Amino acid sequence: MQIKGRVLSVASECVPFIKTGGLADVVGALPAALAPFGWDMRVMLPGYRSLRQRAAGWAEVWYEGDLWGGEGRVLSGHLDGIDLFILDAPHLYDRDGGPYGAHSGSWGDWWDNPQRFAALSWVAAKIARFGAGDGWKPDVMHCHDWHAGFAPAYLQYGGRGGVGTVMTIHNISFQGWAGAGQLDDLRLPRDQFYPDALEYYGNLSSLKAGLVTCDRITAVSPSYASDLVRQEAGLGLEGVIRARASVVSGILNGVDTQLWSPQTEPVPYSAADMTGKAINRANLCAEFNVDVPGPLAIVVSRLTDQKGIDLLPQVIPEFIANGGGLIVLGSGDSVLERQMHDLAWNFPGRVGLRIGYDEGMSHRLFAGADAVLVPSRFEPCGLTQMYGLRYGTLPVVSAVGGLADTVITANPAALSAGVATGITFHPTDVPAFSIALRQLTALYADKPMWAKVQQRAMAQDVSWTASAAKYVALYEGIRG
Ligand code: ADP
Repeated sequence: MQIKGRVLSVASECVPFIKTGGLADVVGALPAALAPFGWDMRVMLPGYRSLRQRAAGWAEVWYEGDLWGGEGRVLSGHLDGIDLFILDAPHLYDRDGGPYGAHSGSWGDWWDNPQRFAALSWVAAKIARFGAGDGWKPDVMHCHDWHAGFAPAYLQYGGRGGVGTVMTIHNISFQGWAGAGQLDDLRLPRDQFYPDALEYYGNLSSLKAGLVTCDRITAVSPSYASDLVRQEAGLGLEGVIRARASVVSGILNGVDTQLWSPQTEPVPYSAADMTGKAINRANLCAEFNVDVPGPLAIVVSRLTDQKGIDLLPQVIPEFIANGGGLIVLGSGDSVLERQMHDLAWNFPGRVGLRIGYDEGMSHRLFAGADAVLVPSRFEPCGLTQMYGLRYGTLPVVSAVGGLADTVITANPAALSAGVATGITFHPTDVPAFSIALRQLTALYADKPMWAKVQQRAMAQDVSWTASAAKYVALYEGIRG
């Protein structure tokens, strides 16, 4: 196919190589989603130890002699269907632990993270401006979250090279703070240290730097984009988003529909023939030793305050009394893990629990359960509610961000119009969540209506196709 444009995607995570959250799913899915539109995307990632080993022998397409304490080389290659630029700078990335710290999650940061991700951004901006050694030069640089926030700034201050820039906000709660004293070290111009430019509450934020210097800002759902102008969601950056409202838009994430398909599960099923789902349910109940007469709900999530997990101990007892059951797969905050253990202990035969991260089990849960609970306090886009739609595992979600954009609640009007796909509630609190669970139980008892909503949910297009078209339109509007 003829190439219509080239995009350099700059990120810290990318499925299937490195992942701590939904950001990685998006970065990994975009190249294949854009290809049918004739857009060629290469993903630039830090050379973490695991990636560096796989990039051995790749062609060097950029050399940077002075990269915060050592040299860096950009290696170009193709892995698992994705064209990659790996920034090989062992002094910054070849370490034990996760991408951000000695622990594998997104907490306990390395002290030099500002420099580590400034280095990624610095080299990305160079490749954007001058092109890589193999002649590949992007029309657009697409930067993801705070890790790549300095890249549009370096490009802006060092010469644009005819490249358009997009900054995507996956989760604004991570802002890439650095002290004002690091301005010179981070190679940022002093004359830009004022509130409308780089200064951020007396310090620096790489995310803000990206937001004030890029051409377009996207958030990962339309509702999240409009939420971000409010203080509760913008978390300090609401003024920046408001000032740049004319270039802000929301583009929903999609789902990898090959990986997430009820037709590829151990006992396959489809909207046309749901028999397999009943068998998956029975197998799941056996696996977790539960027996549930009413709706079997699941939670597959990081166990954090954002996800509203602390509400479960307060709403689940009544749900169980009404016949429901719950299986939780997740890990995270130790207090919340303890609460989940207590729930499982208090309701044997009705509550199943697995603390940990397990993709295979996640598939079995979606294939077998009746409903997926996502009671987030905020949710930029969310993926599990979309898996739920695709699997006829009805989403019960708080009406925030991407959850509000993807689920149509089963109120009487939506039911009679035949458009309901799940249940939403607002605000994210115990009374509203309890009512939603009562609605779930009632809907489940009405078998013909339940089947209709399942069919409607499974008919939703949660693929990347529509979203990729929106990114292409965005790129076309800013290409150099
Ligand atoms: P976030 O990025 O905030 O964690 P998302 O819903 O956007 O939330 O993406 C989370 C991704 O991680 C989904 O693909 C979800 O299925 C997956 N996930 C979260 N926790 C687990 C777990 N314990 N086991 C398997 N997959 C998980």
